[in-house]
Amino acid sequence: MNKEILENISVLYVEDENDVREFTAKLLGSLVENVYSAQNGLEGLELFKENSSSIDLIVSDINMPKMDGLEMCTLIKEINKDIPIVITSAHNDPNFLKKAIDVGVNTYAMKPIDLYQLVESMIKAIEPIILKKELEQLNVSLESRVEQEVQKLKSILDAQDNIVLVTNNDTLTNVNKKFLEFFKVKDIEEFTSKTPKVYELFQEEYGFITKDLLQKQKCWITYIKSLPEIDRVVKIKNEDNEQRIFTINIDNYDEKDNYFVISLTDITELKEKSNLLEYQASHDPLTGLNNRNKFKEIFGKEIRRGHRYKNDLSLIIFDLDFFKKINDNYGHQIGDEVLKDIAQVVLTNVREHDIVVRWGGEEFLILLPETGNDGAIKVAEKIRLAIEEKSFSSKNLSLTASFGVGTLLENDEESSFLNRTDEALYKAKNTGRNKIISC
Ligand code: GH3
Ligand code: MG
Ligand code: MG
Repeated sequence: MNKEILENISVLYVEDENDVREFTAKLLGSLVENVYSAQNGLEGLELFKENSSSIDLIVSDINMPKMDGLEMCTLIKEINKDIPIVITSAHNDPNFLKKAIDVGVNTYAMKPIDLYQLVESMIKAIEPIILKKELEQLNVSLESRVEQEVQKLKSILDAQDNIVLVTNNDTLTNVNKKFLEFFKVKDIEEFTSKTPKVYELFQEEYGFITKDLLQKQKCWITYIKSLPEIDRVVKIKNEDNEQRIFTINIDNYDEKDNYFVISLTDITELKEKSNLLEYQASHDPLTGLNNRNKFKEIFGKEIRRGHRYKNDLSLIIFDLDFFKKINDNYGHQIGDEVLKDIAQVVLTNVREHDIVVRWGGEEFLILLPETGNDGAIKVAEKIRLAIEEKSFSSKNLSLTASFGVGTLLENDEESSFLNRTDEALYKAKNTGRNKIISC
């Protein structure tokens, strides 16, 4: 780890917990030239405005009074879009990483703060900027073959934790050690013999910059450079088929726009963590179905769409009959197995656009866009029959369920639609179970 690069930088550190702030600020003080510390986002923003020319890096908590860390970072990015940001956060805010990526944060350190991880994140965040400064100071012509200068350039590039490549237009001229290690090549020649254009490495995948898109551009490098940071994300596979996700930073090395320094920061862990946390926040851990939070997010939108375009929209709520007996007779674990099986039965009997939700313990809900009352009753009947006919869990248990079906009416809001469907289910329960009541 290249800790020395922190020695000459100034950090704005924002944290609302007094003990943590005092302790961490002291530690940071021993590593960097100067630490500005603030107690909340508002104070941090003010400090940044007063000292924007001297602050090189932001380290900030997320949950804070007055103004949270992400809002502060959004406002700071409006002042200086290139300022690197490291976010520190506890695990209890499941959506924060996604938001952090949207704001342009590319590294994070989890709380409680592990100093080693924090320093590593800070280095990762600041490196592209320091690299740019060092290259400017070196100020050598990249065409010059003066051995000493070439060696100096090489040592600057090799000291980077990021993958770095230098291009003359789109011809590779220099790469660093990390680059050679990642692609498992011994030199540029070996690399270009396999991959004439660097962008050919970018995987075709939704949400990432793709090769296809870049082929259409006059100059792919200036195109990427023009994108906001959140869109400068690529997925690259190395020789071992290892897929990593990177954000790209591009700087001009000379004024003539010939030489570019391209730096790839690995954010794979951050992305994976963000996807995982996002998934956990919106799904039921037992069945993998959508949870109530996710449903609430979708339900309002679907109702508005239904009203606006006069689209059909239906809802099925069903509850397993006498499920308590299964737990009582066979134990909770078998009960859990049954619930997982039920989720599969439902998923195999609905369309791709239908939204299946674990509504509560043994109660499930299906939202069916563009489906009228008759269609929804048919789906409910298919599921009712499938449940009745299947044997569940390792104990081959028989089971039934009761269903309420509702269809969106002209003046419906979320609560009226949901309550009406729930009342239909209640009626099905009170009039013999294992049946469908529609309202
Ligand atoms: P009814 O036909 O009236 O719906 O009867 P019921 O026994 O299904 O309904 P009741 O509401 O009395 O009991 C629901 C049971 O579901 C009780 C609860 O222990 C069980 N349950 C809820 N969530 C879970 C879970 O995650 N796993 C397991 N194994 N059981 C659960
Ligand atoms: Mg039940
Ligand atoms: Mg119930």
